[in-house]
Amino acid sequence: MTDLTFRYVAYTDVGLRRSKNEDSGYASRRLLAIADGMGGAAAGDLASASAMDVLRGVDRDLDGDALTALQVSVEQANIRLGELIKADPAVEGMGTTLEAMLWDGEKLAVAHLGDSRMYRLRDNSLAQISTDHTFVQSLVEEGKLTPAEARVHPHRSLLLRAMLGRDDNEADFSWIQPALGDRYLLCSDGLSDMVADQLIERAMQSDSIDLAATELVRLALEGGGHDNVTVVIAEFIDADADPDDTLSCADGQPQLVGAVAEERRPPTGRSTAGTDRHPPAADLDEEALRYAPRPPGRRPWLRFTAVVLVLAAIIAAAAFGGYRWTQTQYFVAESDGRVAIYQGVPFDVPGITLNRVDEVSQIEVETLPAYSRSQVEGGIEAQNRADAEAIIANLEQFVAPRPTPTPTESPTEKSA
Ligand code: CA
Repeated sequence: MTDLTFRYVAYTDVGLRRSKNEDSGYASRRLLAIADGMGGAAAGDLASASAMDVLRGVDRDLDGDALTALQVSVEQANIRLGELIKADPAVEGMGTTLEAMLWDGEKLAVAHLGDSRMYRLRDNSLAQISTDHTFVQSLVEEGKLTPAEARVHPHRSLLLRAMLGRDDNEADFSWIQPALGDRYLLCSDGLSDMVADQLIERAMQSDSIDLAATELVRLALEGGGHDNVTVVIAEFIDADADPDDTLSCADGQPQLVGAVAEERRPPTGRSTAGTDRHPPAADLDEEALRYAPRPPGRRPWLRFTAVVLVLAAIIAAAAFGGYRWTQTQYFVAESDGRVAIYQGVPFDVPGITLNRVDEVSQIEVETLPAYSRSQVEGGIEAQNRADAEAIIANLEQFVAPRPTPTPTESPTEKSA
């Protein structure tokens, strides 16, 4: 059997809409990794950089099993996030996705957590080898959505699992056996959201992985560049093959990109406000809304969408008789401590109430894990009533056991 080794490259771009890079990427002769920070103003860059900083400590001569080493490293990264949050409550709610591949000389130990992705190009054919830990992916698995519908679903970025510095939300670990010629891609959703798999496949077939990386980032920008985009690529070659001096990995040095490679900001989501180049509106930008768990009582999604919906409501009022239009809308939010479906739009105009509680579920908001709780408190937009019901059914899986009936099993995390 041929001894294998791999070439590698890491490449990132802040994108066309975002003002800072919250992704971190790493590639070396042993380790490939991506972390996509979340939390908007609450320091997504700090989360991804800190997790990556800890994780890359595993890039050294292995003492024992690679999968165990990776598990320990991922756990340490999570503990680190927890410490940062404890030390500075302003960054509460920050978190990160994590994809990592650790080479033991024969096979890859793999960690996967969140909605960043891993793809393999084998015999010129691309396959996604990770399963998104997202709400829409769970609907796909239940047969309620097709993959094509999931791609354009308004909640496609709602994460079911991410690294949040807590003791839930565990990563998936597995082994992969690479073959000669395989190319592996780790990417943030800034690529997979913007670029169809067929185009990713074609780019991955480029003459070299360096060309593939630049082409993928170019495609993401061409596709809109709504988000930070980060790609890490490895290509498995014969360990005895002559080195290719034209490649960026020819120097054998690790490549570190994105937030983890940038100057570290002070460890708080607030104190940089005065020096931030970006207007406060950045707090409510698209990325913050996509992921950001928010402190109780704030409804960023509602505030942001209110502007859009007011305009839409005015237009609809002219066209269809506004009130009736608003009553065809649904959202999920809190009502007297329970998760509820609201009919209407999530704001009132003076003198008119535009929403009402349609149905109150049995779910007490405080029994939800912090991440789900903050989503409810922030309000979750639904496409229609059935969608609102699906959102609630999904939340039910995260309800913590009540102290009194003493169930013996812990709640089952949705396995993706
Ligand atoms: Ca992202």
